[in-house]
Amino acid sequence: MTIIDISMPIQTDMPVYKNRDEKRPGIQVVRDFGSGSVYESRLSIDMHTGTHIDAPLHMIEGGGDLTVYPKERWVSPCTVLDFTHIKDGITKEDLIKKEILNGEFVLLKTQNSFEEDFNTDFIYLEKTGAEYLLETGIIGVGIDSLGIERSQPGHETHKTLLGNSIMILEGLRLKEVVEGKYILIAAPLNIPGVEASPVRAFLMDRGFIKL
Ligand SMILES: [Zn+2]
Repeated sequence: MTIIDISMPIQTDMPVYKNRDEKRPGIQVVRDFGSGSVYESRLSIDMHTGTHIDAPLHMIEGGGDLTVYPKERWVSPCTVLDFTHIKDGITKEDLIKKEILNGEFVLLKTQNSFEEDFNTDFIYLEKTGAEYLLETGIIGVGIDSLGIERSQPGHETHKTLLGNSIMILEGLRLKEVVEGKYILIAAPLNIPGVEASPVRAFLMDRGFIKL
């Protein structure tokens, strides 16, 4: 069995959206063996830190929290699509050339996976791409940038996907992953009422689990 970890490590000097300091996670040691008999630490974190899931409430007033996604979606058949040749937004024209199956999760591998720092010109999913993915009947879409879109003031990509309960997974690391079919495992923390959550995401061979 091969497991490929596609999550970002959570650490204080990690890349954060638009390099904003207030988005940096805080990790604080609360107790240690110098002062007591145990070691304990505290994490303060923006829900959109590193590899994370967005729920409809993130972009739609009155939208659902993470519980809109059925738990079956935490373990999904998945196709990784290689778009490392794309320089800007991924459009319908780009996606139409690939095989995309109804009921699957799609991960978009781009040049973002090869950059260690946050790049304001990151590769993103353009709105026609989101509309096309909706037509294909996928259950979720992931990308290797901290946001799935930029330069679209109406947030059409988020709204098209989240408005139809298509799960968005952001902040993936796909450098080591080749285009193909996998099982994706990505589950949020169980925090009712929130619009997003960090996840540990990994890919496995299709042969290991029958879905
Ligand atoms: Zn997000």
